[in-house]
Amino acid sequence: MRASRSQQIPGTDLSDALEEALGGRWTSAFVDRAAMAHNASHYLETPRVVATPQSAQDVAALMKIATRAGTALTFRSGGTSLSGQASSGEILVDTRTHFRAVTVGDRGETVTSQPGATLRLVNGRLARHGRRLGPDPASEIACTIGGVVANNSSGMECGTAQNAYATLESAVLVLASGTIIDTSLPDAALATAEPALHAGLAELRDRLRADSESVATVRRLFSMKNTMGYALNALLDFDEPMRILEHLAVGSEGTLCFVAEATFATVPAPRHATTALLVLPTLNAAASAVGALADAGAAAIELLDVASLRIAQRAGVAPAPLDTLDLTRQCALLVEAKAQTPQERDVAAARLDAAIASLPTEVVFRAHDEAQRSAAWALRKGLYTIVAGGRTPGTTALLEDVAVPREKLAQACEALEEAFARYGYEDAAVFGHAKDGNLHFLVSERFDEGHERYERFTEELVELILGLGGTLKAEHGTGRAMAPFVERQYGPRLTEIMWDIKRLLDPHGILNPGAVLTHDALAHTRHLKPAALVDPLVDSCVECGYCETVCPSANLTTTPRTRIALLRDVAAAHEAGDTSHARELEDSLRYSVVDTCAADGMCQTACPVGIDTGVLVKGLRADAAGPVTRAGASAAARHWGAVTRTASTALTAASHLPAAVPRGLTRAARAVAGEDRVPQWSPDLPQGGPARATPADERPDVLLFGSCMGTLFGATSAPDGILPAADAVVTLARRAGLAVGHVPGVQGLCCGAPFASKGLVDAHAEMADRTVAALAEVADLGIPVVTDAASCAESLAAVAAGDPRTAGIEVLDATEWLARAVLPLLPPAAAPWRRATIHPTCASTRTGAAAAVEALTAACTTEVYVPDEWRCCGFAGDRGMLHPELTQSATAREAAQVLAAQADLHVSSNRACELALDRATGEGYVHVASALELATRPGR
Ligand SMILES: Cc1cc2nc3c(=O)[nH]c(=O)nc-3n(C[C@H](O)[C@H](O)[C@H](O)COP(=O)(O)OP(=O)(O)OC[C@H]3O[C@@H](n4cnc5c(N)ncnc54)[C@H](O)[C@@H]3O)c2cc1C
Ligand code: SF4
Ligand code: SF4
Repeated sequence: MRASRSQQIPGTDLSDALEEALGGRWTSAFVDRAAMAHNASHYLETPRVVATPQSAQDVAALMKIATRAGTALTFRSGGTSLSGQASSGEILVDTRTHFRAVTVGDRGETVTSQPGATLRLVNGRLARHGRRLGPDPASEIACTIGGVVANNSSGMECGTAQNAYATLESAVLVLASGTIIDTSLPDAALATAEPALHAGLAELRDRLRADSESVATVRRLFSMKNTMGYALNALLDFDEPMRILEHLAVGSEGTLCFVAEATFATVPAPRHATTALLVLPTLNAAASAVGALADAGAAAIELLDVASLRIAQRAGVAPAPLDTLDLTRQCALLVEAKAQTPQERDVAAARLDAAIASLPTEVVFRAHDEAQRSAAWALRKGLYTIVAGGRTPGTTALLEDVAVPREKLAQACEALEEAFARYGYEDAAVFGHAKDGNLHFLVSERFDEGHERYERFTEELVELILGLGGTLKAEHGTGRAMAPFVERQYGPRLTEIMWDIKRLLDPHGILNPGAVLTHDALAHTRHLKPAALVDPLVDSCVECGYCETVCPSANLTTTPRTRIALLRDVAAAHEAGDTSHARELEDSLRYSVVDTCAADGMCQTACPVGIDTGVLVKGLRADAAGPVTRAGASAAARHWGAVTRTASTALTAASHLPAAVPRGLTRAARAVAGEDRVPQWSPDLPQGGPARATPADERPDVLLFGSCMGTLFGATSAPDGILPAADAVVTLARRAGLAVGHVPGVQGLCCGAPFASKGLVDAHAEMADRTVAALAEVADLGIPVVTDAASCAESLAAVAAGDPRTAGIEVLDATEWLARAVLPLLPPAAAPWRRATIHPTCASTRTGAAAAVEALTAACTTEVYVPDEWRCCGFAGDRGMLHPELTQSATAREAAQVLAAQADLHVSSNRACELALDRATGEGYVHVASALELATRPGR
């Protein structure tokens, strides 16, 4: 059943006000609220309403509605923040679905972005100019400009010099009063629009400046990376209230205003790096080395304590000779310097080597090439994966973040290690950005068994870090986790200034109450998130949201994170005996969690703990498949040749009938058998394609396993004279003087994906067995097997690799073989196209074939364009025909970019994806092999 969009909210006129202000862009449907409740933090509150504004004016209207209704608004963007600042039991405002415009200015020297754009998207645009944003959080794939500004996020390199506070040039802010203010205007604009605010900020500035002790505290705390409380340094760094307001917004975690747009000065994005992994005998030795390495130009200095090294050794991610080092009290530093040119890199490397030579190192692992550099970084980046992914099922992961003056680094690490041992946090390890004295550690906690240990540990952490003159949050924001401790860190006078700032900007307390400032001493122990067990496939999920940006169903129904979260909610409700809550959720799960998952596995490519939610969904589909469906699928597998030919003939026949007839027939069948069973025909579908190609050259160099997709779907509005993909592969090979054969019996075989994706395990096993037997017959030839559809290549390779009879056979996407063996032998394109747009496909991204597609495209065009909003099209075999809305939603943003690019060629490497993009753009997508064949055809 599909979730109803919204309901009347009992006992209030809130629904009427929301409807009037936002039209349909809000929901109180239970499944939507439950899904949005989850974020990367260890807090969980279910909002009453989820609102999805699309303009600053919408947000201004929401501010007024919240004030009138006496309710609260919490902005929620990427949902990757870790301190509970994106949680709410009231109105949660989704600011990521819209607000995605990005404008690069001054040849990349500046960039203006709306808050919903991810850092990766913005940096992708800047990369063309050799620039990037200053803030560099590790979560860049999923976190957004709004979150980065509101949390003042940073990362390995940016320190305090390149964070959002330092690089923000101006912003458009929506105030709680509903006023929209552009801070690039002169200060007088604020005085005119909000005179009381202007005067109040001037008074606070003067009050702080008159208190020399408080000034010293602010200067000391903000000399470090510090995201505790508000950015009081703004009252010292800027004179004009407009500038003060602009910089108070940074790090205010949605408690002072809404950031509707931000303009940043960008920083250079160096292309070359020199990297070293050093092991020093003790924490003290490592901490003492940090200054010399920073002076030698290191941009990143990452510390890994001995527990981290032990974990890395156990997990096999420590490069030699570190893998066999006898570990006692050592500490490692991962050091990297950056440069624009190879020459500058060599100079940087020499400086770094000179500094390293003066250190008491036990091991120096010097990365001389990209592979070694990746090995060194795998150790640092793998830590989170190993600790978070390997934690006991049912526990919640807590990623902590503190900073201390650099000279106290060793002391802080030692004390933390002792505390972990005392509190029984067995797998905890300390790592972090040593250059900034910024330490992270991950512990896992069982909140279903109470929170006493967490409470006592937090108290000890607070004592320890404040005792060392540090800050309790360096880059993750205060949130709810540390709000009770703001006064302990700043003292009463500075905390009162913060409360005055809050009252000045948010007099009715509507903006994210409880985050940053609180009077509740135990706020950090309320609404803690339990982690109910769902399935070992997904129990290690930390709800970080990295997977959401790649998921094709994200804007339609659910994401991998929300799929898992909803299933956790169901499990938790069952555990608690709350069956009505469980049923309410379960009712909505079939469509939003199961039916609209493309099972393309793209989530795994982004997940830091390696979860493929598609595998879970296939399992759910298998559980739901009845005996009749399973028997029908097995029969189809046995007669696959006839099935594909019949479907192809039916498509051709349908195209000759008045559209209303086949459309009506499929609609009626769907109404009876179910939308997830019967594909919907539509007039934009092509006729059926030709029978599968069976080339039979003597002494072949390669064997073709023609995809059945080419038989099911013929050409659409392709350029004149273009060949079907399989024929193009054969023609190109022969043009290069190579011979092509085919896998015997291919007409009745298949890679198995159509069955696997539906959870039809018996039919899949049967088909896989027959396909493997056919491949085994030709295994002795020792030549590659290629297929002309990227998704089939991936599935076929998996089937072959999974069986000893064919484990040694090379199965690959035709594009990879063409790029490797054929392209170098082809004549140059006679009449190349001007600009080609590529839809890379999820399969080619996962297998690495995307690079080959790009190389082949480059050979037949002058300019290659890959839209940065591309994602899996969701067509997924026939899912795009079962649920056309999935494909429509998944391709909408990419289609807008494609149309704006005005290319004269559109390529992909999978027939189903080509159809999806045809539908979305109205352009004729073709297989890249077909395009290359036409471009290099003699006499063209
Ligand atoms: C695995 C992992 C690694 C991480 N690594 C880092 C790291 O290296 N460095 C680092 O600094 N952080 C890191 N983080 C934390 C997190 O990614 C950052 O804080 C990030 O900037 C949050 O952005 P978001 O878009 O997810 O914001 P959200 O979590 O959605 O929101 C964050 C806060 O901003 C507010 N907000 C959002 N949009 C607006 C807006 N337009 N106007 C006003 N307020 C708004 C919200 O109300 C909330 O208080 C990591 C998180 C995870 C899960
Ligand atoms: S599935 Fe992976 S990427 Fe997605 S929220 Fe869970 S841990 Fe993060
Ligand atoms: S398999 Fe695809 S559609 Fe399903 S959750 Fe993962 S990314 Fe989303």
